[in-house]
Amino acid sequence: MSRIYYSRDEMFQLNRDRLLERGVTIEEIAEIAYNQQAKYNDNLTMQVCIESVEKILSYRDIFHIVQLAIEIDRLTEEEKFRSPIQEIMRADLGMFGIDEILGLSIASNYGVIGQTNFGDIDVNKPGVVKRLNDEGKKTGVCHTFLDDVVGAIAAAASTRVAQIISENEAMRESKDSPLRPSLK
Ligand code: MG
Repeated sequence: MSRIYYSRDEMFQLNRDRLLERGVTIEEIAEIAYNQQAKYNDNLTMQVCIESVEKILSYRDIFHIVQLAIEIDRLTEEEKFRSPIQEIMRADLGMFGIDEILGLSIASNYGVIGQTNFGDIDVNKPGVVKRLNDEGKKTGVCHTFLDDVVGAIAAAASTRVAQIISENEAMRESKDSPLRPSLK
């Protein structure tokens, strides 16, 4: 019987492998985060975006969501659910919304900015999100949950990158003008 507790490193590897199995790479997710943040930061690197995606994929809450979401899509492809939810999930019904709930749950770990970044990705469908959405319309393919989960990981990574940049900026500025003692 399989274990139920996994280390951060194991959770990262299991998430990475499941995503790859579904045709999604860490680089593609990082690319969305990069493009979202490049608008605001000139010296952004892909490396910090990739590191953020990897970090996010190692959190327990996110591990459970990624693993569950991918299994729901797979079982929907195999027509393992009963009517009417089978047809509703297969059709990726716009008014279903449970896929967005899982996405929001991931993005909410990064506050209101994480949520609005997810909203932007959900509406504009950049890069791999668009590809997953289009592929999901083919017979025998279901990406109802995967597109939201991938978009939300990108939004979380993008927000984490913005936090890192803000922190670096604060450290740089505080060297130039340290807080006055009365404000410490
Ligand atoms: Mg969806």
